[in-house]
Amino acid sequence: MTDVLTEEALPEVSEQRARPRVGFVSLGCPKNLVDSEVMMGLLDRAGAEITADAGSAEILVVNTCSFIDKAKQESVDAILEMAKLKTEGSAKKLIVAGCLVERYRDEIQKNIPEVDAVVGTGELEGILAAAGIQMPAAVVTNSPFNILSGAVRETAGPSAALPSVAPVGMTSFRAEGDRREEQGRFSRATWDGAGAQLPQYLYDHTTPRLRATRSASAYIKIAEGCDHPCSFCVIPNLRGKFRSRRLESVVSEAEALVGEGVREITLIGQDTTCYGEDFGLKDGLAALLDRLAQVEGLAWLRFLYAYPNRVTGRLLETIAKHENICKYLDVPLQHAAGPVLKTMKRGGGAEIFLKMIEKTRRAVPGIALRTSFIVGFPGETDADFEALCDFVAEARFDWLGVFAYSDEEGSKAFDLEKKVPKRVIEQRRRALMKLQKGISRQTMRERVGREFDVLVEGESEETPLLWEGRTQFHAPEIDGTVYINDFGSLEGVTPGRFYRCEVTEAHDYDLVVRVLGESLPGKAEELAAAGVGQ
Ligand code: SF4
Repeated sequence: MTDVLTEEALPEVSEQRARPRVGFVSLGCPKNLVDSEVMMGLLDRAGAEITADAGSAEILVVNTCSFIDKAKQESVDAILEMAKLKTEGSAKKLIVAGCLVERYRDEIQKNIPEVDAVVGTGELEGILAAAGIQMPAAVVTNSPFNILSGAVRETAGPSAALPSVAPVGMTSFRAEGDRREEQGRFSRATWDGAGAQLPQYLYDHTTPRLRATRSASAYIKIAEGCDHPCSFCVIPNLRGKFRSRRLESVVSEAEALVGEGVREITLIGQDTTCYGEDFGLKDGLAALLDRLAQVEGLAWLRFLYAYPNRVTGRLLETIAKHENICKYLDVPLQHAAGPVLKTMKRGGGAEIFLKMIEKTRRAVPGIALRTSFIVGFPGETDADFEALCDFVAEARFDWLGVFAYSDEEGSKAFDLEKKVPKRVIEQRRRALMKLQKGISRQTMRERVGREFDVLVEGESEETPLLWEGRTQFHAPEIDGTVYINDFGSLEGVTPGRFYRCEVTEAHDYDLVVRVLGESLPGKAEELAAAGVGQ
């Protein structure tokens, strides 16, 4: 068991380590970004200085992604780049965190000797021990660390100096998860260099977090892990069984974020539609959304990602009912051909999905739908691909991502025969993107002349003549861009504020708008009183 710092130890610690500078590289998805924010928050709370300038940092942290081969390569490249700063620059310590650690824990340190410590996704608070920084005792008393003495040490290795903390309220998993574990779903037995134990950690509202997102927008991770059996996916092996945060904890975090000036909250998790099932909640996400929609000052609330068979009537009613819940649904379908979905171990098919889409559009008129597909899954025939294209043409998604199948060792699909040649996979990916481009172009054109609330994000990275923003139909950093080229009667616009805008031009995925005036989305009465958008 780790000793909690004593008062006497503090002066020595602060003298020796006067605000060590820590540089962070965060790769991968928003879920990984939240992990980075938690680690930065812990380091900041413990007295470290977080810097955006890696060249001047004494401690470097690379929070890695290991979802597919391309992501792994990107992670390794980033580690090697930071290792160079250690051998040739001023950095003294290099720490690797995240999904790559869950998979290649021993191998990372063996093959990249510059790496001093590793921190898995289930041991985020271990970042302090890895960095050699201790939490001051005064802070320990008021933080999640005050329950350390009752916690169980989860892993061995350099990051195990601090035990993992079971978050308050996280007492059980879903029966489905336990059943899948018995069937071997989460096994890492075939992974060389990976620790056997699954991550269990999940932060809560008392955990310090240093946000890296733009000021008006923030993510909240409401759940971690996944119990689904998708045969192409290794995320459950990397992130563990599904577990949710307590509803009150999420609400407390949302209230605190809004208190700090956040206007848009995006709830994330591998599958947010399972939220609360581990507490025995039915339609838990709908209950959570209902509660969060009442947080005073929250203008936009959305969630990523939905599992197709969990888009319930209650969930749709909830989205429709609250003005400040974005009319936006990201439901990754992965494929539409029955035989491929069956081998993917997901089930469903074009007909079922079209019914779900119709139900969704009926319940929430005007809702923007996003999905993603994998092309070139083992055994995918020309006919399967055609069925997918037919489905895409009929469903007419607002946003669509297409991924080329990546053969991941340790996934069930890795052992499947009838692998599709890489050249064919690429052809199919391009063909599907081309089809969607035509659909998107038409959807964008239909928006010309219409008015939307736009959250301004800042000057465009392409040119200072344009500003960028998003409507409620654009999730952060994922969908097309809204360019502002005309401020109307206003002198200018301010990042983090909402403006009523009219669409003047449409491109394949992007819109160009002109500002009509400032707006207050989610507050119809205030909007009317301000005479905006009438
Ligand atoms: S739902 Fe399927 S694809 Fe998504 S994280 Fe879970 S196992 Fe992976």
